[in-house]
Amino acid sequence: MIKQPIKKWRKPFLIGVKDFFAVGWGALNHLLWPKRCVNCRSIILEINSELCDGCWQQIGAVSGGNYCKRCGRDVSEYGISGGGCAGCEGEEFSFDAIARAGVYATSLREMILSFKTDSGKATKTLSFLANSALSGSTFLDDIDYFVPVPLHWMRRVRRGYNQSQILAEQLAHPAAIDGQRSRTRVNTDLVRIRRTKIQPSTASVHQRLKNVKGAFAVRRGHDFAGKKICLVDDVKTTGATLNECAKQLKEAGAAKVFALVLAVADQRID
Ligand SMILES: [Zn+2]
Ligand SMILES: [Zn+2]
Repeated sequence: MIKQPIKKWRKPFLIGVKDFFAVGWGALNHLLWPKRCVNCRSIILEINSELCDGCWQQIGAVSGGNYCKRCGRDVSEYGISGGGCAGCEGEEFSFDAIARAGVYATSLREMILSFKTDSGKATKTLSFLANSALSGSTFLDDIDYFVPVPLHWMRRVRRGYNQSQILAEQLAHPAAIDGQRSRTRVNTDLVRIRRTKIQPSTASVHQRLKNVKGAFAVRRGHDFAGKKICLVDDVKTTGATLNECAKQLKEAGAAKVFALVLAVADQRID
């Protein structure tokens, strides 16, 4: 009974001293080596952010909003009919639904491009955006595995990593951890067996389809049969790559295949 008031008094005092030095050290650090925005390199005051206010505003302008859950295009709430939009009417997809963080433009596009050359760059922000897109998806509670869109091994060796796999590993989703292969959070039994050309933005739908046809396969001993899978990629352009991956997974017995991407590039409605 006598000790209690002493404890009460000491504890906040010690925490207070510790906090004082921690904040003081952080502030001094920030003053001597100011933090810079990972995207535009301007100085930022917010210690816990990777991005400056300007870049966050640009991301805010190209993310969120309504999009077609079938193809990922920007669409008004009233532009959806029969589960799709005017842009994807008549288009065939092997994946069942898509979720995206935003449109491939402004600082979101710049960050995705730099993510391909430096895996550490903007990972925090991009994984935050991927997780937000996932939590707003129609298939959040319907996933057994996350499967990153694979790179050909030669490209992965040259780059040192697969950006889609890094993204998939950052997703906070219990089903991906509690799957039968709990040793991995992400299932990498979908592989790219043929090197594909990097397509220019002007490549037609036909060229893109031809480029990825037969480029993917599943590893022997895979566990995709009857599973609900979420493919993960950085950008969807025409959807040819996601389609080809989804086709392979379904041929391997997958019950459902969804797609999660950071950005959707092709917004044209022909
Ligand atoms: Zn910035
Ligand atoms: Zn659509």
